[in-house]
Amino acid sequence: MQKFSTVIVGGGASGIIAAISAKRKGISVVICERMGQVGKKILASGNGRCNLSNDKLDESCYNQSARPLVKSVFNRFGRDGIKNFFYELGIKLHSEEGRIFPATNQSSSVLKILEIELKRLAISIELNFDAADISYTRDGFVVTSKSNKKIIGRSLIFACGGKSYPALGSDGSAYKFAKNFGHKIIEPVPVAVPIVIKDPLCHILQGQKIFAKVKSIISGVVIGEAAGDILFTKYGLSGTSILDISEEISVAVNRFNKKDIAVAVDMAPFMTTKELEDELAKRIKKNFSTEDLLVGILPNKFGIAMKDLLKTKDKIAIAGGVKDRRFKVLGTRGWNEAEFTSGGIEVNQVREGTLESKLRKGLYFAGEILDVNGRRGGYNLAWAWASGFVAGEEAANA
Ligand SMILES: Cc1cc2nc3c(=O)[nH]c(=O)nc-3n(C[C@H](O)[C@H](O)[C@H](O)COP(=O)(O)OP(=O)(O)OC[C@H]3O[C@@H](n4cnc5c(N)ncnc54)[C@H](O)[C@@H]3O)c2cc1C
Repeated sequence: MQKFSTVIVGGGASGIIAAISAKRKGISVVICERMGQVGKKILASGNGRCNLSNDKLDESCYNQSARPLVKSVFNRFGRDGIKNFFYELGIKLHSEEGRIFPATNQSSSVLKILEIELKRLAISIELNFDAADISYTRDGFVVTSKSNKKIIGRSLIFACGGKSYPALGSDGSAYKFAKNFGHKIIEPVPVAVPIVIKDPLCHILQGQKIFAKVKSIISGVVIGEAAGDILFTKYGLSGTSILDISEEISVAVNRFNKKDIAVAVDMAPFMTTKELEDELAKRIKKNFSTEDLLVGILPNKFGIAMKDLLKTKDKIAIAGGVKDRRFKVLGTRGWNEAEFTSGGIEVNQVREGTLESKLRKGLYFAGEILDVNGRRGGYNLAWAWASGFVAGEEAANA
């Protein structure tokens, strides 16, 4: 049985950086990764560009319950720490409206620079090591793979990710290890995920993308708002603005089984309701055909898709249908289309500042496996880097 000071289960963003920070403390480290390669999700991130952090990074960009823990970690390794870490490795960064990317705009350069550092530090990596059992003995944490290989460590970092995009490695199967140590799991639900809606408008307009303002309304209360692209699809709505408001919707529908959920879409956010009504009144007076009433305001296809409403020639009803179109939500798409996970290991059982389990000494957590989820825009990778770095340093001192 191979022995290391620290065993890291999961070779994603958080596991890689945890290994680097632990090894820099001079201890022996191993990464156990079930895939044939580390960092597969890094490669897929940001549409292949890796939005690795955000200039506005702070705890307010994360779920309420996680903020004290996030703050305690960012106090040690936050926005500047992350930037400096990558600068020192040799990656040049640039930001777009606060979202930080590698200057190359290639996530492969982020992974490559991390791999160079893993190699320079001679960090052991066990690929195709699918952890199947983790137990605690007098000698430390024993991690057993599906093929019965055993590795032992004085300390252990769980960096196995959440449940999104299982093809990239993390499928939530690692929650059970934490459960065995007594940790509570908040039911994971997919976020940054398209929304399922049965509405003829979505069906007729599938493939159409417009800029819109959207709101999530749960039991009559507006919970979230966003502006950005909205994409009509045959199953409902997608696009950046929908992904941005999907978290509260997914939690409500998938975790709490709520039914009274709607998305309100302002399809013409560049005009006030009054301006739209006045424009419609002008067009109605000029005898515009039904189909042409919205020409130049919305793509032409909307004239056909919304013909029943346009037929009324009622400027107030039409403006309402454009500025505040309600869609009843039936559900969300699944894990294969979700960028992040909401839920995971409950943060109350994890020590602020160190990320050590309150239930088992020497056990640490990093990344998306915890019930910490950030907004879109680089916050989730930022959490993975920050928590990985801190967990690595702490595990090295354990
Ligand atoms: C398509 C996509 C695009 C994204 N884009 C961005 C973006 O631009 N910016 C951003 O901030 N966030 C983005 N995210 C989210 C971000 O990538 C994740 O939050 C982050 O990678 C989480 O890092 P992690 O180390 O916690 O988990 P992961 O990166 O998922 O790594 C966990 C690792 O653990 C391994 N593992 C799991 N179980 C076991 C086991 N039993 N044994 C051994 N190994 C195991 C997995 O194979 C995986 O390699 C994106 C996510 C997706 C899916």
